[in-house]
Amino acid sequence: MTECIFCRIAARDLPGEIVHEDDAIVAFRDISPQAPTHIVLVPRKHIPSTNELVAEDDHIMGRLLRVAAELAKKEQIDQRGYRLVLNCGAEAGQSVDHIHLHLLGGRGLTWPPG
Ligand code: 5GP
Ligand code: ZN
Repeated sequence: MTECIFCRIAARDLPGEIVHEDDAIVAFRDISPQAPTHIVLVPRKHIPSTNELVAEDDHIMGRLLRVAAELAKKEQIDQRGYRLVLNCGAEAGQSVDHIHLHLLGGRGLTWPPG
């Protein structure tokens, strides 16, 4: 079994509060939420970061965005606003080497991020 925690959560080999899953995407609540809604969306495919994306991943990344928008609606933050964050690499604060999109909302979010 892989050591990647997000692959393991997606495979239900590790616990996670999963809020969406389909054949390509799994979404679960962040273990350390930074806002009232903080959901992490991952492709089932293990892609380390945006640096490793290839053309065949285009549809997965498009789906990731669309599922995020659907979840924002489900969480009732679509009208007031929300933020989608995708950290890549050390200086951006990427701490898990499996590409993931953060869906954050439910409070006012400052800009620019730290
Ligand atoms: P990053 O900092 O890499 O952009 O985001 C990784 C996110 O994954 C962090 O917000 C962190 O709290 C979350 N995270 C790390 N380990 C786990 C875990 O085991 N379960 C869940 N649900 N979230 C995790
Ligand atoms: Zn992985």
